Amino acid sequence: MAVPKQRQSKMRRDKRRAQHDKITAPNLITCPSCQERIPRHIACPACGSFRGGNIEKLVKPNL
Ligand SMILES: [Zn+2]
Repeated sequence: MAVPKQRQSKMRRDKRRAQHDKITAPNLITCPSCQERIPRHIACPACGSFRGGNIEKLVKPNL
């Protein structure tokens, strides 16, 4: 069985563990119909468009 040769320092250990809850910047795109900056994979909150079409017709068809 492999055994570590030397004990890792607290700094190295904590640096490794810190990778888990890193915060990354949101992946923003520009809405093609109203030029609003919105996160990817989300229907635009300003105009309701998603991938070129208006998603509000699909979500609430009878309103
Ligand atoms: Zn929009």
